[in-house]
Amino acid sequence: MLYNCPVKTAFMHECCGVFGVYASGINVAQTTFFALFALQHRGQESAGIAVTDGDGIKLHTKMGLVSQAFTENDIALLKGHIGIGHNRYSTTGSSRPVNAQPVIAKSGGLTIALAHNGNIINSKPLHDELQERGYHFHTGTDSEVIANLILASPGQNWQTKIEHAMHRLQGAYSLVMLTEDKLIGVRDPFGVRPLCLGTIDNGWSIASESCALDHIGAQFIREVTPGEIVVIDSHGVKSFGKKDGKKALCIFEYIYFARPDSIIQGKLLYLTREAMGRALAREYPVDADLVMGVPDSATAAGISYSNASGIPYCEGLLKNRYVGRTFIAPDQRMRELGVQLKFNPLSQVIAGKRLVVVDDSIVRGTTTPKIVGMLRKAGAAQVHLRICAPPIRYPCFFGVDTAPRWQLIAARMTVPEIREFLDADSLGYLSLDGLIGAVGLPKDIFCLACFTGEYPIPVQIEMDKLALESLPQENFSAIKL
Ligand code: SF4
Repeated sequence: MLYNCPVKTAFMHECCGVFGVYASGINVAQTTFFALFALQHRGQESAGIAVTDGDGIKLHTKMGLVSQAFTENDIALLKGHIGIGHNRYSTTGSSRPVNAQPVIAKSGGLTIALAHNGNIINSKPLHDELQERGYHFHTGTDSEVIANLILASPGQNWQTKIEHAMHRLQGAYSLVMLTEDKLIGVRDPFGVRPLCLGTIDNGWSIASESCALDHIGAQFIREVTPGEIVVIDSHGVKSFGKKDGKKALCIFEYIYFARPDSIIQGKLLYLTREAMGRALAREYPVDADLVMGVPDSATAAGISYSNASGIPYCEGLLKNRYVGRTFIAPDQRMRELGVQLKFNPLSQVIAGKRLVVVDDSIVRGTTTPKIVGMLRKAGAAQVHLRICAPPIRYPCFFGVDTAPRWQLIAARMTVPEIREFLDADSLGYLSLDGLIGAVGLPKDIFCLACFTGEYPIPVQIEMDKLALESLPQENFSAIKL
């Protein structure tokens, strides 16, 4: 049995990391392994690599972290000059081995392997239509729907087929795909999820985030433009697709999801998070003794709140960085410990102190009261919460497992009610303008729907995560705690 770690479930979950490489003379499987290792924060449920040497596609997928999913022998068997890889956090389809990616789809003599970051909101009707047309599905993922839709689309070449498929797909998708002679990268027309292009030795690479390129010795060239199809083969890189139109990059990449050493739209994430802390200090000053950030995602904002306010910074909570996934089923007692498995307060540092606690976001409101309670139990005299995002009032349909609307605390309560519920002495959410100012990019390039309810495309279909599963739910091996 595979279990999600109980201490992860209160946060917003990213859905996946993708990577691709086209290069002769290097070990593409090993390169993909290390790139996935750098993208581990984007998904910890399963990992997979597909490669080709021009004669068929080899695939290895397994549940668990990248380091658990591959042995040296697995990597050695994956020989080729084109490779793609995937880290999964499930948003469509349950967490079980068959849903691990890359997925492979075959039809009419064509074969592709595909890895997907995002969420397709019209995947159920597309799935049913394709099934009626004779396409077979082996997984419960929207990613397999995309792969089959591309195969089913008209066109004499991959570019035309993908363009046709893109006209029918609704939602978020950053894709890497391989065929027997091509590496292909695709980003949806809104550019909801990031994707970037780099060079490596005598070849090319594509990654969800630039940090993956850094770690494998690749050079960042540029982002894949929203709506762009990048086709890489022995002739080099060709770019296709419609690249104008409204953009909707997920603002949470800046707040929480992407690694602080990644650069998106020319902005180093660490610096944007620092700017959020400064903006919070401006918007919500308070008389206090110490500032701390909830590690690790709010550390930069906590330090900059401290610098801007003149209140000293401290590490009030220590994080167990090895808590991520466990294959040991927690019993009821361990489940009740919750965040205690992840954080331990430094009581001798915080006892008797008035604390400013900076965190990235509040989603359901289940984790934050436990953190506040832990700090109070350790002796904190006051706890003043400062949040790097506005209240989250609407769910995400574009690849982030926020929670249904009724579970979002800010959809049910006013800010004063939330403060009282969290047992905080004060609570300050960064304003939307403060957030946009901190990121330093035009407001109209972002998706802000979980704050505003204004989705970049109409969301009429509230799709069940398991809508494409054919097995009864009790057969799923993963248990969400
Ligand atoms: S709804 Fe929120 S989490 Fe989802 S893509 Fe938009 S900004 Fe990101």
